[in-house]
Amino acid sequence: MTAHWQEQVSLKPYNTFGIDVKARHFVQVHTDDEVREALAQARQRGLAVMVIGGGSNVLLTRDVDALVLHMASRGRHVLDDEAGRVLVEAEAGEPWHPFVQWSLQQGLCGLENLSLIPGTVGAAPMQNVGAYGVEIKDVFAGLTALDRQTGELRDFGLEECAFGYRDSLFKRNPGRWLILRVRFALSHRLQAHLDYGPVRQRLAEQGVQEPTAQAISDAICSIRREKLPDPAELGNAGSFFKNPVVAVEQVARIRAEYPGVVGYPQADGHVKLAAGWLIEQAGWKGYRDGDAGVHRLQSLVLVNYGQASGAQLHDLAQRIQADILARFGVELEMEPNLY
Ligand code: FAD
Ligand code: NAP
Repeated sequence: MTAHWQEQVSLKPYNTFGIDVKARHFVQVHTDDEVREALAQARQRGLAVMVIGGGSNVLLTRDVDALVLHMASRGRHVLDDEAGRVLVEAEAGEPWHPFVQWSLQQGLCGLENLSLIPGTVGAAPMQNVGAYGVEIKDVFAGLTALDRQTGELRDFGLEECAFGYRDSLFKRNPGRWLILRVRFALSHRLQAHLDYGPVRQRLAEQGVQEPTAQAISDAICSIRREKLPDPAELGNAGSFFKNPVVAVEQVARIRAEYPGVVGYPQADGHVKLAAGWLIEQAGWKGYRDGDAGVHRLQSLVLVNYGQASGAQLHDLAQRIQADILARFGVELEMEPNLY
């Protein structure tokens, strides 16, 4: 089957910031064959290709003069269930949170802390999505990707993906690999991760004494709903900046002036600073310039109140970066992919 090509398509419904830019060409792909065919046609016509999943980690600053390839493949199943390890595979276009809920309904543990993250399964390895002390690398069993340079399929194991903090081989080589499906090693037995932020406290408030994976997921969903804006109501791409990992000496310098600075020691001796704290301290929390702003509850999240352009949001982000550098000597790196 040949996927349906469209011209001059608004990308507003395809990015969670709700930025209204146009794709010169747009195609939704559901199968490997449709992916290959779309890429072949783009090559023949000399078009660049931009892959998009849920559009929850992109900032679109202008019309996209390319083929936008929207991943819409579906499918999730158990591949193997042996000796307590359950191998599960999902297609790239599967929406992430429903996939997590499905795994919990199968009685499988491992993805509960990653509940309510928007986007698709295929994009999750891109930045090694993480939340509440778990990253997908912790439950990752492999993925299959198409090499856009050679057209060959390749399976990647954990080591080959070179996952880092909100980082991977795929993020470092934009445009090279198209992820088709991802595999996860889950378990029937829960290994609870409750020591991060308010998770344990929320479970206690809910009267949960011995949490199940579903109870942890529910607690995390309730925390996230209170704190984070729902893109369906207020455009955003989650955390706009990564938490900077800096040297201990730099933290000491900052602490001398700001004793309340929030930092988390890392295994390698560095310290991860809470970027949200730095931004709030600098007075940006709740800031608004036209329709571009900083969320009133979570200063790490930039928001679009309606008609902000990607360029306006990018400009705001750059102003925040310059201010944080001047005040604290800390460079903030943007997390979403900029187009
Ligand atoms: P997109 O935005 O569509 O794409 C992101 C990048 O991946 C782009 O460069 C795109 O070209 C590429 N890409 C997409 N699909 C593929 C594919 N199949 N093959 C190759 N490249 C591909 N992130 C976290 O890590 N933790 C969180 O807790 C978290 N919370 C969030 C909360 C909110 C409210 C929002 C809006 C975002 C949050 N995010 C979080 C960021 C985002 O949801 C994740 O990074 C998510 O994995 C992005 O998926 P997506 O399908 O929307 O990717
Ligand atoms: P939070 O609980 O207010 O914590 C603020 C920051 O401190 C987080 O960014 C987190 O870093 C760090 N932190 C908190 N407890 C920690 C601990 N025990 N050890 C090490 N670091 C700790 O954060 P939040 O904004 O409400 O988000 C909660 C979780 O969801 C976080 O893990 C966050 O990364 C994730 N999230 C991510 C996005 C995104 O778009 N990337 C959006 C929303 C939420 P880490 O970010 O490194 O975990």
